[in-house]
Amino acid sequence: MEKTAKEEIESLRARIAHHAWLYYHLDAPVISDYEYDQMLKRLNQLEQAHPEFHDPRSPTQRVGVEGFEMFSPVEHEIPMMSLDNVFSFEDLQSYIQRVTKSLTEPELEELKWVFELKIDGLAISVIYKQGLLVTAATRGDGRVGEDVTANILAIKAIPRRLVTKDGSGPPDLLEVRGEVYMTKDAFDRLNQAQLRSGQPLFANPRNCAAGSLRQKDPRVTARRELSFWTYQLAQISTGYEFESHLESLRYLEQFGFPVNPNIKLISEEAEIFDEISKWDARRHNLNYEIDGAVLKIDDLRLRERLGSTSRAPRWAIAYKLAPEERETILLNIEVSIGKSGRATPFAVLEPVTVGGSTVSRATLHNEDQVKLKGVRVGDTVIVRKAGDVIPEVLRYVPELRPSESVEWEFPSMCPLCGSPLERFSGESDTYCTNFYCEGRIVQRLAHFCSRSALDIEGIGESHIAQLVDKRLVKEPPDIYRLSYSQLIDLDGFGEKSVRSALKAIEDSKSKSLTRLLVGLAIRHVGEEAARSLAKRFRSLAELMHATKEELEEIEGVGEKISESILEFFENPKSSKICEELIELGVAVHEPLDEFGANEIAKTLAGKVIVITGTLSGFTRETAEEAVIARGGKASSSISKRTFALVSGDSPGASKISKAEELGVPTVDENQFLRLLEFGEFS
Ligand code: NAD
Repeated sequence: MEKTAKEEIESLRARIAHHAWLYYHLDAPVISDYEYDQMLKRLNQLEQAHPEFHDPRSPTQRVGVEGFEMFSPVEHEIPMMSLDNVFSFEDLQSYIQRVTKSLTEPELEELKWVFELKIDGLAISVIYKQGLLVTAATRGDGRVGEDVTANILAIKAIPRRLVTKDGSGPPDLLEVRGEVYMTKDAFDRLNQAQLRSGQPLFANPRNCAAGSLRQKDPRVTARRELSFWTYQLAQISTGYEFESHLESLRYLEQFGFPVNPNIKLISEEAEIFDEISKWDARRHNLNYEIDGAVLKIDDLRLRERLGSTSRAPRWAIAYKLAPEERETILLNIEVSIGKSGRATPFAVLEPVTVGGSTVSRATLHNEDQVKLKGVRVGDTVIVRKAGDVIPEVLRYVPELRPSESVEWEFPSMCPLCGSPLERFSGESDTYCTNFYCEGRIVQRLAHFCSRSALDIEGIGESHIAQLVDKRLVKEPPDIYRLSYSQLIDLDGFGEKSVRSALKAIEDSKSKSLTRLLVGLAIRHVGEEAARSLAKRFRSLAELMHATKEELEEIEGVGEKISESILEFFENPKSSKICEELIELGVAVHEPLDEFGANEIAKTLAGKVIVITGTLSGFTRETAEEAVIARGGKASSSISKRTFALVSGDSPGASKISKAEELGVPTVDENQFLRLLEFGEFS
């Protein structure tokens, strides 16, 4: 049976009140802001269509929630209002029209808007008397807030004492309002620490900031690294007159109150929309979260004339950006196998538009995270998608959990190859124990060809998938055996692209050992470890025979990495692949610092080196670069000053005899490697 308007209004009011309590009082919302705002919007529509059900206690008529337990109440002399919201340019345009219609011709001519970012934190009022911070309070229900003075004193960004630069002295009374927030960095640091200590994670910086401020122990607040942006001068003793909002903010700035640098004065209406679009695109570059923009009239007299409703001023409006958190249904939890064999649980979701795109899968990171979040198949969950970040399941809505749901168990077998999945003690990730798991081939090979590894431009995951399908490649050495006729048949390839892909394959042979090690995707061996290993062993052959002790001596290579390397080379399949790569001459030496991060020792300062013949780990160019990078001189002719002649395959006979004649030592490639490292070859 369809609900009557009255029933729907009552039901919405009750649900909104419940969620407002969870959000404002417990700092623990269970639904997304979007869902909350939609309920409020619907209630507003119904109330406007049915004025007979008007109720001043309705959440559409009030700010926040009433009633406190934790801290003593503080009455706001000037109410702390909320803001009216719009969710589209169309509604923003109507708002602007409504406001401008009520203005006189001269007012309209002078009209200026202040554009501000809508910081996702919590509003705070701070009162100074004779220049000293005396009271700080939360917004509460707008009339009465909570006294959080001790905790506000723990926030470094908020001045405790007002000092004027010009020596004029602070006003007797000053009330400043603004947003207490947590930077994304501080939030990540805190959640990392929570994770390390097995504590539950905070859902987002806003709730974390709110929870951190409402702590009984101010030392906890101090540790939480809260920040502050000032956006309003609420009261000041008589004698101080300001005409505009911006002027008042500049005044506050001189006392050290942080004012957001992205505030902008706007006189052209079109600019408002441009500014919003700009920040919609850039919001992820900021180190703090915003949930929209606030548009305010700058002229303070005009503000006074426009006045307020029971919950929000008429001279300002909040434009809400597309939500980055939405509710949806968790249809299933599956496990995907990555190139390193990591088994990552992910959520299969009922598709939902969030963060500007449709999301139907979201990561659940690992077993612990699933446990921590406690999500079950069938749950209604909050999904977050922010910018380019992988969508993530934040939490579930307890009230909407189906009664028959069961706890999810991490599978014990790989869903792709059926081998056991293993989680090592002290690690949060689970791995497929089969390095050659079918599910890993395409990703492993695509990774091998990727820019961070062998950088084989032109061979992407879609090509690899086709090559694997046609059984033309299975392991990295197979890439080096591909022919023109095999590649030309692939989708997405033409004559020109095949030729350049073949050239890229050939060129990749002269890449560094560091890149090869990255490309082999040995578990735990990332770029840093690969670089240290390549620097120490210089060649793949040497590394293959490294002992546990030798490996553990290397800085940045602990027990975990060395065990993984030993395990890798002990596997006959891996050692066969490596032997084939050595035979093919693929990046088996460490010539130059490819990633540019090592300081190269000038081992060859002042020494002249001549190279002849073909080397296996270098092209002529990279060998000469290696000499130059170490302070040496690479010459093409032998003289008495030549320190050594490096001789590869098919050397020039005249160079060899000239070296003999002048007593210049001739060295092979291995000695050349020593020469590069130590400046000596014996
Ligand atoms: P609001 O967030 O829509 O807007 C008013 C607030 O914006 C001000 O009080 C101030 O704190 C803040 N603000 C940030 N930057 C500002 C600036 N530059 N100038 C002025 N103010 C600025 O209002 P609200 O009444 O606090 O609450 C609604 C918000 O809380 C909504 O986003 C809503 O979704 C969320 N909420 C969520 C739940 C939930 O269960 N998920 C429950 C209740 C409220």
